Amino acid sequence: MGVRGLFNAGPAALPAPVLEQVQAELNDYAGSGISVLELSHRSDAYQALNAEVQNQLKALLGLDESYEVLLLTGGASQQFVMIPLNFLPPGGIADYLLTGLWSEKAFEAARQIGMARVAGSSIATGYRRVVEPQDIHLSTQPMYVHLTSNNTIHGTQWHHWPDVGAVPLVADMTSDLLSRRIDADRFHMIYASAQKNLGIAGLTVVIIRTAWLEQTIMTPPAILHYASHARHHSCYNTPPVVAVYVLALVLRWINDMGGLPTIEARTIVKADTIYRAIDTSDGFYQGCAEVGSRSLQNMTFRLERVALERDFLEEAKKAGFHGLAGHRSVGGIRVSIYNGVGLEDCEALAAFMKHFQCCYG
Ligand SMILES: *Cc1c(COP(=O)(O)O)cnc(C)c1O
Repeated sequence: MGVRGLFNAGPAALPAPVLEQVQAELNDYAGSGISVLELSHRSDAYQALNAEVQNQLKALLGLDESYEVLLLTGGASQQFVMIPLNFLPPGGIADYLLTGLWSEKAFEAARQIGMARVAGSSIATGYRRVVEPQDIHLSTQPMYVHLTSNNTIHGTQWHHWPDVGAVPLVADMTSDLLSRRIDADRFHMIYASAQKNLGIAGLTVVIIRTAWLEQTIMTPPAILHYASHARHHSCYNTPPVVAVYVLALVLRWINDMGGLPTIEARTIVKADTIYRAIDTSDGFYQGCAEVGSRSLQNMTFRLERVALERDFLEEAKKAGFHGLAGHRSVGGIRVSIYNGVGLEDCEALAAFMKHFQCCYG
């Protein structure tokens, strides 16, 4: 059977209209006679895309001119390094909130560069939830606080931002940016690799307060320096042209859908569809995350009879549902439902889960 639902954790499903437009324009970008794969980043056509993407991202997130959008490469993983290189001077302290593997990696990278501290962690719960407000203990004057908004591997998500006062808040939003509405202006910096909700691999979006970027005293090499990328309007070196083009298409699609309010409502209905299938299974399926921290992007669960998980994945694949294996570090099942996944995909998977339970339960 063909693919009925692509639930990959990343790179992930793209909205069908986006894929169709890429195909339609592949050999002739906007009537230019050349392929988008051949487009120069110095061309007017690319400069228009560059500006469109930056403006649209700010508009969707309700941000004004006090923010800068940077289009970078190296993935979220490179941001783990760039953040301390730009904002953690000698003598300064950076606070990290640990809620899963990606936040651990961000913390480990910062520790190699400067004084990074764990200001709160949910590891004692097996990362089944995010950190509770009373368990957060900030340093006296941290340079910034870093968190991971959605924990892709464990299936948890922050639903209320911690109160960090005037301290700059930095968030890795790789796996939930543009899936819901957020108070983006609570953050000094938000970053996300594109291959989950924003398009394809190769591009990292950084949204950052211009004043913060200008006031830092750190001067890493230009390629790792936010201020130099800002000065060159994200064309300091060759940007990932095709990934920026796909992001432009994704942002147009989000606007056509009705913007983030519609996307958020759709996200909630999709997630509910899967969680209901888990919660009405009489324990056959067992959700990994605590209910209050459940992710609206990655639903993680185990089968009560763990030995059945291999059968589940095999049968699912036969039925056309792909990408459901949990991350190799934790195992189990993971359903990732980024913006490219439709409600009908979630409904079909929920029906499959019921059917599988009938056969094997
Ligand atoms: C996927 C993911 C990453 C890793 O992104 P790369 O582009 O591979 O560096 C980092 N953080 C989170 C939250 C992720 O989901």
